[in-house]
Amino acid sequence: MQPHVDALKDSKYCPLWHDQAGRPETLPSLSHDTQCELLIVGGGFTGLWAALQAIERQPNADIILIEKTTIADGASGRNGGFLSSSLAHGETNTDHQFPGEADKLYELGQQNLKEFLETLTRYNIDARYEKVGETSVATDQESVEALRKDYQDTINDGLEAKWFDQEAMQQEVNSPTYLAGVQYLDGQDGVIDPARLCWGLKQAILDLGVRIFEQTPMDKLTPLGQDKMQVRCPHGIINSNKVLLATNAYRSPIGKIRRTIIPVWDYQIATEPLTQEQLDSVGWHKSRHAISNHANMFHYYRFTQDNRITWGGGGAVHYFFNSNTDPKTCADIPERFNQLAAEFVETFPQLKDVKFSHRWSGIIATSTRFCVCPGTAYNNRVAYAVGYTGLGVGASRFGARIGIELLGYQPSDILDMQFVKKNPIPWVPEPFKWIGVELTHRALIKADNNGGKRGLWLKMLDFFNLGFTC
Ligand SMILES: Cc1cc2nc3c(=O)[nH]c(=O)nc-3n(C[C@H](O)[C@H](O)[C@H](O)COP(=O)(O)OP(=O)(O)OC[C@H]3O[C@@H](n4cnc5c(N)ncnc54)[C@H](O)[C@@H]3O)c2cc1C
Repeated sequence: MQPHVDALKDSKYCPLWHDQAGRPETLPSLSHDTQCELLIVGGGFTGLWAALQAIERQPNADIILIEKTTIADGASGRNGGFLSSSLAHGETNTDHQFPGEADKLYELGQQNLKEFLETLTRYNIDARYEKVGETSVATDQESVEALRKDYQDTINDGLEAKWFDQEAMQQEVNSPTYLAGVQYLDGQDGVIDPARLCWGLKQAILDLGVRIFEQTPMDKLTPLGQDKMQVRCPHGIINSNKVLLATNAYRSPIGKIRRTIIPVWDYQIATEPLTQEQLDSVGWHKSRHAISNHANMFHYYRFTQDNRITWGGGGAVHYFFNSNTDPKTCADIPERFNQLAAEFVETFPQLKDVKFSHRWSGIIATSTRFCVCPGTAYNNRVAYAVGYTGLGVGASRFGARIGIELLGYQPSDILDMQFVKKNPIPWVPEPFKWIGVELTHRALIKADNNGGKRGLWLKMLDFFNLGFTC
């Protein structure tokens, strides 16, 4: 058995974040017919933030949230916990997708994160937030040049960032693969514990009177008369004036949403807590950088409060034919985790004897604009906010805000922005979708192995602003 495979041998298939004290009891499922003013479907960040912001805006609102499994079981309880102020997945994508709105989106992103953190304080939610910014490292010469330019642009824009040359970067975090790094320190970006955030939001909305039913899937969504919607669940029917679909990567009853996003599986592993000797060999625990490498198929990795490293991304991410989201066939795939473990050891050879305690996977809702796609259906009785791609921890609060504003909860001028109004380009039907994603995946890996040089396929996608650029 190869050493990295051996290191995974005793790992548990379970998100690290779920496997800790403080996990709340699962609430009873819906067992009767009922009604409400606003029904929220989905108990991830989008659904939870939507419930909270709606009840804060209208304290007497009668709100129900249903979740088909348990709160935080979707991407929201399985992610890396990188908290970014960016609403449109980075500056390059923002400029491409929403020309002329970059400044406004920047301001809104900062405001969103400020309010996000104020909410944690207001409701006493301990999401283990650490303001560490985000650090991008270069592992080849072309990336050094690209990062240097990015650093310079950041400084020229009057934003805060620190440059590390090879020696300085390796002193911060000891990996022989690092040639340089930039730590972006603008605003309040950092890391959180995503499950604790979900659990805290769950308690906050329960305290404010929102009714939550877990293990309650929406089986059917239909209009009821002229002004209501009806949602059928296995053991009850809910009639509601308005419905917010916060179902992200999961199959939606609305065709437009199904054409807007594809489910892409992402895999993660976490080490045992590092010993003092192992901590000293990486040095990283002193600075606690939240790191990703400058590449198309980048890894993202960070420290936890009990000194583990979580490690995800890279070439292991995968789209399964026909938007398969069946955990039985997509979730626990040994070669994906072996690949991650091998890449971890390449980055930190001094940690080759470290064991991995957890392995898990989750589904990223990927849209062709690489950020949230909001919209409405059934004459504005239904709204949705889905498709954050890989950057939804912070942005989902804003997506939730758009969703409830579209349903009439204190609408503001954000609804006039292209960001809200512009329709995303739909994905093509199968088998072209699978072929296109496979071609792109391979082209991105090839570009990474070729100093970032983009081949014909990626250049063509770039032309249509569809090449992932951030
Ligand atoms: C492995 C991984 C790593 C990531 N890392 C980061 C990161 O570090 N930083 C970052 O910013 N973003 C990251 N993301 C993205 C981020 O996690 C998501 O964008 C965000 O959690 C989306 O929240 P959501 O509430 O919209 O979706 P979800 O959390 O997926 O919630 C949707 C919920 O809807 C429920 N549901 C679906 N259908 C039904 C139905 N019919 N009836 C009832 N309920 C239903 C699901 O069970 C689920 O709980 C990552 C994602 C993954 C998968």
